Amino acid sequence: MSRHSANGRPYWRLRRHWLANAPHGWSCWLCHDPVDPHARTRGDRPTVDHVQPTSTGRIDPLDTSNWRLAHQRCNSARQDSPPPLGTPSRAW
Ligand SMILES: [Zn+2]
Repeated sequence: MSRHSANGRPYWRLRRHWLANAPHGWSCWLCHDPVDPHARTRGDRPTVDHVQPTSTGRIDPLDTSNWRLAHQRCNSARQDSPPPLGTPSRAW
């Protein structure tokens, strides 16, 4: 098993660190509304959304260049559908 798991401990550690720094700023990349880093409400919580779905197995879940900040509700509404606005025009 060389492939990283999206459920493994390294993933969650990286995810927490990434969310704490919010390298893309505190706005949801799906609905463009601000995200409250301390939101307690389930749907408002900040989550990591993967631009390219990792469920295909071709994307490394730990590749943070594939990560975007999204509300929990926006993330779960999107599921594994393609990015809403096509591929990002800007290289991060
Ligand atoms: Zn949102």
